[in-house]
Amino acid sequence: MLLKGIRKEVENVNPYIAGMTIDEVKEAYGLEEIIKLGSNENAYGPFKHAKQAMIDEINQLFMYPDKTYETLKIQLAKLYDVSPSQLALSHGAGGMLETLARTFIEKDDEVLLPDQTYGLYREITHLMGGKIVSVPLDSAYRIDIEAMIQKMTPKTKLIWLCNPNNPTGTVIAKDDFDRLLAQMNPHTWLVLDEAYAEFAAQHVLPDAIDKIADGHNIIIVRTFSKAYALAGARVGYAIASPEMIKVIETVAEPFNANRIGLAGAIATLKEDQQEYQQALDAIVKDREVLMEALNALGIQCVPSHANFIFCRTPYDVAQLSEQLLLKGVIIRPCTGWGYPDAFRITVGTTAENERFLAIFKEVIKAL
Ligand SMILES: *Cc1c(COP(=O)(O)O)cnc(C)c1O
Repeated sequence: MLLKGIRKEVENVNPYIAGMTIDEVKEAYGLEEIIKLGSNENAYGPFKHAKQAMIDEINQLFMYPDKTYETLKIQLAKLYDVSPSQLALSHGAGGMLETLARTFIEKDDEVLLPDQTYGLYREITHLMGGKIVSVPLDSAYRIDIEAMIQKMTPKTKLIWLCNPNNPTGTVIAKDDFDRLLAQMNPHTWLVLDEAYAEFAAQHVLPDAIDKIADGHNIIIVRTFSKAYALAGARVGYAIASPEMIKVIETVAEPFNANRIGLAGAIATLKEDQQEYQQALDAIVKDREVLMEALNALGIQCVPSHANFIFCRTPYDVAQLSEQLLLKGVIIRPCTGWGYPDAFRITVGTTAENERFLAIFKEVIKAL
């Protein structure tokens, strides 16, 4: 690095790789119509009342938001049947993950995570000087909890678990989750990133809120970016014990959620339930339709509990995604996760999925 004075840990951090944006693709390929299926957004939103609430909120923007975030916390507390004191908000789930890294990770602490998971965990661990201990997924692309337990030591400070897992869409079995908890030390904390939990059948998810009540060291992280269709509004949150929430709010920067995002999130929960549920139902139904169609084309799809599907192909995925981009379709190649033949595709609107399949067929015929 050429600049002087930068922390050594910063040199080990790689920039976050986001999916391509619609503007990038439009400009690079001179296209008008783009289907964006690379970032797991929900294109059915933002929902109607949220949209109006955000427009109305503009007049208040000269003021800081309510620092206690009381209105949204009360809404979320009702949703999860917890106390508002068990909730902390953040600038997207990503902001919460970073706050948690700063809360827990000291230099040379061991930090445990799967090899193929959400990329930010690794980078914010590096930023804090933590030592990564990682394990491969099992043969069904699930997080290998048994292997993680084997790697736990007295120096393990933090465990990053993404459930359902990005990019594979798989979930952790409840009894595996319990076994992991049973093996944790009193100073080991588990961050359970449930960014996609709304898309899963609720009975397959561990009852992590009950485990928190039982005194386990768990922090649940959730977001309005995915199912609630507010990725651009940047609102995430954590559910934890009241004691841990106090710590999180001390470490987080003040005013880490903005007025527009708060207004959108509150209105979504309060007034857009029907539209939200319709979108969710459509995505869950279309996920199976899309998977069957891809399977029929010789693509090996991993059954998903999220709003995306992980697919192994007989193709070089860099080439495949380039050909799709030429036709205005953005997917996420999984080369960076060690799969040069795999991609992750967001389940879009029904119309987007149909358009994608038509283009995909053309493209693979020509490969
Ligand atoms: C998208 C995503 C996030 C980040 O969500 P934001 O709330 O938009 O910051 C966090 N974790 C996982 C696993 C994600 O896929």
